[in-house]
Amino acid sequence: TMLHHPISRRITTSTPGSSGKITGESPIRSVRSPRRRQKDWTEQARQSEDHEIDATRGEQITPRGDLSRQRTIIVRDEPPESADLRRGTVIAVRGLFADVDDGQTIWPCTVRRILRTRLIQERNSVTVGDHVRFTVEASEGVAKEGVIESVEPRRGQLSRLAGRRVQTIVANVDQAIIVSSAAQPDPKPHLIDRYIVSALAGDITPVICMNKIDLDVDNFALDILTRYQHLGYATLATSAGTGVGIDALRDLLKGKESVIAGQSGVGKSSLLNAIQSGLELRTGEVIHKYDKGRHTTTTATLIRLDVGGYVVDTPGIRALDLSIVPRGELEAYFVDIARFVPDCKFPDCTHTHEADCAVKAALERGDIHPDRYDSYVRLFTAG
Ligand code: GDP
Ligand code: ZN
Repeated sequence: TMLHHPISRRITTSTPGSSGKITGESPIRSVRSPRRRQKDWTEQARQSEDHEIDATRGEQITPRGDLSRQRTIIVRDEPPESADLRRGTVIAVRGLFADVDDGQTIWPCTVRRILRTRLIQERNSVTVGDHVRFTVEASEGVAKEGVIESVEPRRGQLSRLAGRRVQTIVANVDQAIIVSSAAQPDPKPHLIDRYIVSALAGDITPVICMNKIDLDVDNFALDILTRYQHLGYATLATSAGTGVGIDALRDLLKGKESVIAGQSGVGKSSLLNAIQSGLELRTGEVIHKYDKGRHTTTTATLIRLDVGGYVVDTPGIRALDLSIVPRGELEAYFVDIARFVPDCKFPDCTHTHEADCAVKAALERGDIHPDRYDSYVRLFTAG
């Protein structure tokens, strides 16, 4: 239902040049409101625990066959007395286990039963990128395994359509580093725009990175980059070859959760390697041997950076191709187009063929770049 929520098409506020995001109260908000209404799972879990859970059950094995026995063994119902809650980030999910990084140690964690019940009821589950509170169980005095007690509300997310519902693949993504190259392959503004729209739709801040700037002989690529800078986006010119812009990129990634997007061959792996040697994405691989071959996973994981922060790794998933943006919402994610929409004659103007279209007038005046308008039309037509 989230995807098909009818929205008014009028954009009330937009601030071209200051920020890449639509600010103020835009009708898009109505589509997003369900996410905002998410309650704090900690509180919900606590409240429910008070009257739903029999505190004596703990790790006892229930006489209900092998399946429920298994579950009972790995999921405890009650947090330990005077539970010492730690904070961490889920960096991988393997079956019933989630690997939680507290900044120093990576803990294999299970999920407290009441929380899992709640998540299942909400057709949700613990996801890579989730910020969680967890306790650590000690066995014979040795701490070895954690239990996730609560999950904090999510912010920016990568999602995809699974059947008719939206499934979160990675939660709490701060920014998308959208990488192009000055040559080999040539920059493709249409692709950059598509990634920007996907990022914005997932509440993720786009950053435009032009790599292989050493190959930009005639400033062709730099001119494109400057266009995005003027739209209000953070931009970055880099060369993994010569080292230009690498410190700036490292600073940008520091302490944040970032997804690196871009066509194959633009230098994503090279950039990450320049930032931190040995750091390589599994992008494109379908199956990755994880955890000494005990499990394989095709789901996203987070890679921890030495400077702090994480990079999203999505093997076999084209990370930023996932957000599905309804056609009617598209214009809201083009900051340079959205500002003219209120002046179109028809309230349902699609800016493709209508008369008295303020967007097309702006295009003719040169207030909207033809490449950007072209991107809009191509995405509109594809959607
Ligand atoms: P990915 O597919 O996006 O991960 O791209 P790679 O990191 O595998 O790079 C593709 C090719 O571009 C490799 O041959 C790299 O050596 C080359 N490359 C990467 N960055 C640069 C750069 O800044 N300048 C130049 N000249 N070549 C680069
Ligand atoms: Zn119009």
